[in-house]
Amino acid sequence: MTVRVRFAPSPTGHLHVGGARTALFNWLFARGKDGDFILRIEDTDQTRSTEESIDQIKESLSWMGLTWDEYYRQTERSGKYEEKAELLLNKERVYEQEGALWFRIPDGESVLIDDLVLGKVNYETEDLKDFVIRRSDGTFTYNFACTIDDSEMDISHVMRGDDHLNNTPKQVLVYEALDIDPPKFAHFPMILGEDHKRLSKRHGATSVLNYRRKGILPEGLMNFLARLGWSHGDQEIFSPRELIEYFSLEAVGESSAVFDEEKLLWINHQWMKRKDPEELVNSLTKFLLEETPVSEVQLNKLDNTRLTKLTDHLRERNKTLRQLAKSSDFVFSRELDYDDTPIKEYLTEENGELVGELATRLEKLSEENFQSEKLEEITRDFLASRNKDLGDIAQVCRVGLTGREVSPGLFVTMELIGKDKVTNRLSRVAAITPT
Ligand code: GLU
Repeated sequence: MTVRVRFAPSPTGHLHVGGARTALFNWLFARGKDGDFILRIEDTDQTRSTEESIDQIKESLSWMGLTWDEYYRQTERSGKYEEKAELLLNKERVYEQEGALWFRIPDGESVLIDDLVLGKVNYETEDLKDFVIRRSDGTFTYNFACTIDDSEMDISHVMRGDDHLNNTPKQVLVYEALDIDPPKFAHFPMILGEDHKRLSKRHGATSVLNYRRKGILPEGLMNFLARLGWSHGDQEIFSPRELIEYFSLEAVGESSAVFDEEKLLWINHQWMKRKDPEELVNSLTKFLLEETPVSEVQLNKLDNTRLTKLTDHLRERNKTLRQLAKSSDFVFSRELDYDDTPIKEYLTEENGELVGELATRLEKLSEENFQSEKLEEITRDFLASRNKDLGDIAQVCRVGLTGREVSPGLFVTMELIGKDKVTNRLSRVAAITPT
């Protein structure tokens, strides 16, 4: 059997993590089985659908790497729905009332759904009500358009959130009325917020593009979403390739998963540390422009190896691209925006003098020799000649150079900041009167 699955969002807002996980599970299933992944925009409700939302859905999916093989919009397909509605009207499975078309639920039948995730679920038709398939304004409703499309598009597996489970018996009855075999169904338990209520806007901004803005990597989000309700032994970190290889519906749990933002950050951090630093730099640029005073022109002029080195040293301590960019402000700011208080914590008359002299020595170094090994050698030789060691000045230098108590190694930090700023900042430290 050819696997053909679809992600069928209604374009009424942002793509949220719940929808993104549904899309991901469908995509993984298709890619792992050499099947097709179809993006179908369910925009028949024109009062709620917007073009902006369609764009955002596509952008979110593309950013996550969830490529689709076919693309449809339901508003372009009403001819098909019309044709099938006509057919059911002739068979008297559909009737007209007050300008709308209604599907007639047959009496005394059971509808058994053998769900690939939830198991067997039985419905009695006496508990179901006739439902509108075409509104009086001529537009078709979800349950009908979805069923016609799933059959016309040869969808083999309908996989979606379990908020649609109650729609499934209605859709199965439409297939039956049309003498069509229904596809297989798989419903995924909803994602819950940390308060164990269904994840919604109340839990903060949970849209995919919002996570992109926060500096989450697509690999990080994909990895995190995959683990919401699916597992593979106790492995936590999966590349997209591994996810495709390992994903199976049997390993999707029957109970709801809880959305834990801390875990997202942890997984993202693993991806920050794992990614090729050069690739990371590409995604970082936009955040540097937002979080530091660097301009686009300056950034373009910057030697890429320097940026790569910066990224490589800062990623140990930063879980998102935005945090990383923020923590690199000491490299890009002209003047550090802080007062002398933190420097004074470490400044003494004695080390202030040493720092001043060190600044003078470093000033003599050429730009191209301003590299960590060389800097370390000069600094250590100088300190040894005074019977001092690095511990005597390291922290006051660090704070003076970065405005922070924690930074990458002192000499790498100097190299990253560059000669002029280093000597200026160290001279400034030396000029402060200790208290
Ligand atoms: N348009 C529906 C939604 O966004 C799709 C449900 C389905 O996958 O059948 O929830």
